[in-house]
Amino acid sequence: MSKPKLVIAESPQGIKLLNAPHLNKGTSFTEAERDELGLRGLLPPRVFSQAERAQHVMNNMRRKSGNLEKYIYLSSLQDRNEKLFYRILIDNMAELMPLVYTPTVGLACQEYSKIFRKPRGFFISKYDRNRIEEILQNWPYRDVRVIVVTDGERILGLGDLGANGMGIPVGKLSLYTACAGIDPEKCLPIMIDAGTNNNELLSDASYIGLQEARLRGEKYDALLDEFMTASTKLFPRAIIQFEDFGNANAFRLLEKYRNNYCTFNDDIQGTASMTLAGLYSSLRMIGGKLTEQRLVVLGAGEAALGIGSLVVSAMVEEGLSVEDARSLCWFVDSKGLVVAGRTDLSEHKRRFAQDYPFHRDLLTVVEAVKPTVIIGASGQPSTFTQAVLEAMARINKRPIVFALSNPTSQSECTAEEAYRFTDKRAIFASGSPFPPVEIDGHNFVPGQANNCYIFPGVGLGILASEASRVTDEMFTAAAKVLDKEVSEEDFILGRIYPSLSRIREVSANIALAVAKIAFARGLTQMQEPADLMGLIKSMMYDPIYKEYV
Ligand code: NAD
Repeated sequence: MSKPKLVIAESPQGIKLLNAPHLNKGTSFTEAERDELGLRGLLPPRVFSQAERAQHVMNNMRRKSGNLEKYIYLSSLQDRNEKLFYRILIDNMAELMPLVYTPTVGLACQEYSKIFRKPRGFFISKYDRNRIEEILQNWPYRDVRVIVVTDGERILGLGDLGANGMGIPVGKLSLYTACAGIDPEKCLPIMIDAGTNNNELLSDASYIGLQEARLRGEKYDALLDEFMTASTKLFPRAIIQFEDFGNANAFRLLEKYRNNYCTFNDDIQGTASMTLAGLYSSLRMIGGKLTEQRLVVLGAGEAALGIGSLVVSAMVEEGLSVEDARSLCWFVDSKGLVVAGRTDLSEHKRRFAQDYPFHRDLLTVVEAVKPTVIIGASGQPSTFTQAVLEAMARINKRPIVFALSNPTSQSECTAEEAYRFTDKRAIFASGSPFPPVEIDGHNFVPGQANNCYIFPGVGLGILASEASRVTDEMFTAAAKVLDKEVSEEDFILGRIYPSLSRIREVSANIALAVAKIAFARGLTQMQEPADLMGLIKSMMYDPIYKEYV
């Protein structure tokens, strides 16, 4: 088999090669490469294998004193040696995911202006109107296949972080590569800086974004429309993932674009799929049907209502009418229970308004509705109080408790609280990871309800099938695949999501299901290949050093 060669005439050599993160191998350039590629003398003499260097950087990273320092270390590794960064990320997923993504990414976004060293991703500001296509040509790669875009208005549960929110698309795309093997050169993180309403940032001398109030109304919509048109024109094969937009814009933009572009909103659709998978697995573990559950969801925003819609469609698939399915899904927002008598409900919430007396607080709702499942998607910490959890334990033999709010500081309860206050009977999962908990000699491994189980696989399936649209059916299918990936051994550990160490296999299986839907529904011009899984696997980037000469 012939070795992949660096086409010397066209590729950077010498110092430029060392400064090209996608090609750089640092001290792992071989003796022959050092001679052929003008590297002799630019590197210390000892040659290390990739595995040795991976061990060294893990040791260095672990020596850093805090998570933000570790985040900075990993980002700078990504900036200088992409393959080494992805090697250690893939091989140490459970340890590094919380540093590259939530919860540490939340802290990194809060400090983004202060830790900003080297730009990553693409910034479009409101002053780029009428030239977005032109400036997007500055992006160095042409075959972009996944764009993650935010305007920074609702970063995790931390609110409006403006341009500092760039950490989110950057982090999500790292997960696309690590979890589903999307080539980093095909990934484009975008921040649309439409201003910020965060007073602290507006007066922070080091803030990297526009110090102006957020653009609203027609001008905002025109900016987004231009972005969609320009990015699709320049990168016609790209899927566009919306991430961490404020909820008024998120729902609207999803409805506006979903039938005309290859796009989805991860906070709404990805979260819903990941949660539905968790429900399927919980019910497989403890017995019971989805249609027999009653859900109370704290929060009635993007995540919460996305979950509501997908759960309703899954219940309908199992034989309920839409009305009956909706009657099993209850929502509590910042004002209280979402009921028909309220006059302040948006159209999205009204769909789920129950014909029921208004109750102000969660505990009263839980006592009245007697849910089998409570889900937190409110961004409000400590709202699953001891009393709420004790009530869930009184009502249910095995209460299902998902505290989804991120980062850890915003979680509705901790893993320990969930187990302790339900007499160790809760099936628990959280948005940000919690370490294993030991109570009275019992060990519990809390599951992380992480969207990374879903969106990378969905994206890979879209890429492999060249689908033109992302549909809800694909997210339901992804949830079913994810549920099937949870084994009896996982259940023994109390885990309702598979181990992160299996994520690439899980993503490939989700991609297969998604691609099959694209072919079955005529969402692609491509002919279905005989070996679809073979195609999917062949597309997955593997960060191993190749010999260039
Ligand atoms: P959002 O802004 O769209 O919705 C927040 C909702 O919470 C709103 O309906 C608001 O009315 C409600 N709320 C605020 N204060 C409340 C209170 N005291 N009591 C009850 N409800 C209250 O935000 P979102 O996109 O839905 O995200 C919400 C949270 O879920 C965030 O922390 C986010 O990080 C998290 N999330 C987690 C995952 C995951 O675990 N995989 C995925 C998506 C979102």
